[in-house]
Amino acid sequence: MTRKEKHENCDVLVSGGGVPGLTLAALLGSLGLRVTVIDPHPPQPLSAIHPDGRTAALMAGSVNILKSTGAWDQCAKYGAALETLAIVEQGSRHTKPVRADFRAGDAGLPCFGINIPNSTLRAAMAERCAGIRSVELLSGAVESFAADDFGITATLNDGTAIRARLLVGADGRNSKVREGGGINAWERAYGQKAITCLIRHSRPHGNISTEFHRPGGPFTIVPMPGQVSSIVWVEYDDDADAFMTLRRQDFEQALQDRTEGLLGTVHLETTPEAWPLKALRASALIAPRVALMAEAAHVVHPLGAQGLNLSLRDAATLAEEIADAARNGLDIGSHIILRQYEFRRRADILTRSLGTDNLTRMVSNDIGILRHLRRAGLKTVDGIPPLRRFAMHEGVTPGYDDSRLSRGEAL
Ligand SMILES: Cc1cc2nc3c(=O)[nH]c(=O)nc-3n(C[C@H](O)[C@H](O)[C@H](O)COP(=O)(O)OP(=O)(O)OC[C@H]3O[C@@H](n4cnc5c(N)ncnc54)[C@H](O)[C@@H]3O)c2cc1C
Repeated sequence: MTRKEKHENCDVLVSGGGVPGLTLAALLGSLGLRVTVIDPHPPQPLSAIHPDGRTAALMAGSVNILKSTGAWDQCAKYGAALETLAIVEQGSRHTKPVRADFRAGDAGLPCFGINIPNSTLRAAMAERCAGIRSVELLSGAVESFAADDFGITATLNDGTAIRARLLVGADGRNSKVREGGGINAWERAYGQKAITCLIRHSRPHGNISTEFHRPGGPFTIVPMPGQVSSIVWVEYDDDADAFMTLRRQDFEQALQDRTEGLLGTVHLETTPEAWPLKALRASALIAPRVALMAEAAHVVHPLGAQGLNLSLRDAATLAEEIADAARNGLDIGSHIILRQYEFRRRADILTRSLGTDNLTRMVSNDIGILRHLRRAGLKTVDGIPPLRRFAMHEGVTPGYDDSRLSRGEAL
C-alpha cells in the first residue's frame, strides 16, 4: 500500500516535532495513548549531533517536566547549571556601569536552571519517543484538516490521511495549524536579530550567566560545560547583518570587546547564526478539535529566556488535561477539555509575553530617562533583600504555573 492510500488512526496528531511537540508526545505515549508526530525536518540521532550555538536556559519547573518524559538522563550531561545571574547596566560618559548579582543560593536554590543546546535536547526527546511503542514519528507536513463531532481528519503533503481525536499545532511561529484553524495572531517585529554562537574561553565562567544591557539590545553570556559559554547577542537588524559579514578574527575581536575581559581570551567554537526577533500571540489557543502550543501560540523575545520554558508548561498542562480526560473515559478532543487547557494557560502566557515585550522596549534603547530608571530599578531590586528573593523565585517558579509536572509530581 502506498502512503497515499493509507488511512491512519491515532489519538493525538502532533504537527511539529520541536522540543515542546516531542515532549507532549513522550508524555502521552508513556500513558499508552497513540500519538503521531509529523515534521518536515526530523531530528538527527543524538550520536550525530554537533551542538550549535542556540541553547535554552531551562528553569527548574521545565527540568522537572523533561525528567517526567524519561529523556532528561540522556541529555543532562550536555547542560550546565546556572548558579548566578548577573545583570550589568552599561554606563554612559558620566556614569559607571551598575551590576547586580542574583545568587541561587541566596534564594535557597541549588541553581536557577540548566543551559542546554536545543539540538541536543530535541534529539534526546526524539530518541525517547522512538522508544515508546505507541508513538510514531513521520516525516511530512499537515496540508489541511477538517473536524467533526467524533474526530479530526488531517491530510498530509503526500496525500496520507490521518484520523485523530485531537490535532495539536506545535509547528512553530508560522503555524499552518493556527492558520487552518482560523486563529488570528497579534505580531510585532522588533527590527532586531539575535546572533548566537558557542565560545571557548581561557577563564572559567564560574556558572555565572551575565547579561549586559546595551542600546542595541542585550548581550548575554550563558555557561556551558567546561570553559565554554553560549552567546545571545541582540543588535538592530543593520548592525547584526554587518557583524555577520565580519571575518572570523574580526568577529572574535568584537566578542572579546563585548565580554569585557570577564572570560579572558575568547575563541569561536561554532559558526555564528542570526535569528530575526519578533513577538506573536495567538488570539485563542483552541479551535474545534485543535489545540495550539509553544511558538504556534506565542513567540517572545529571548531577553529573559522565557520561550521554551513557557512552551514546556503548555506541553505539561495539555498532557495533564488529556491524561485526566482519558482516565475518566472522556473525549480528549472535546471542547470542554480544550477550554480547560486554554483557561489554565492564558494568564501565564499573557503575563510572560507582555512582561517580556515591555522589558525589551525598556532595555533596547539609549534614552536618558529610561537608562536612569533601569539603573535605579536594578539598584532597588538588588538592595532590598525581600524584593531580590521575590524576583528570583518568580523567575524560577512563576506564580501562574499550576502544572503538577512542573512541581515534579506524576502525570
Ligand atoms: C536566540 C534565541 C535564544 C533563545 N533562548 C531561550 C532560552 O534561553 N530559554 C528559553 O526558554 N527559550 C529560549 N528561546 C526560545 C526557544 O528557542 C523557542 O521557544 C522554542 O524553540 C520554540 O519551540 P517550537 O517547537 O515552538 O518551535 P521550533 O523549535 O521552531 O519547532 C517547530 C517545529 O515545527 C516544524 N514545522 C514547521 N512547519 C511545519 C508544518 N507545516 N508541519 C509540521 N511541522 C512543521 C519544524 O520543522 C520544527 O521542528 C530562544 C529563542 C531564540 C531565537
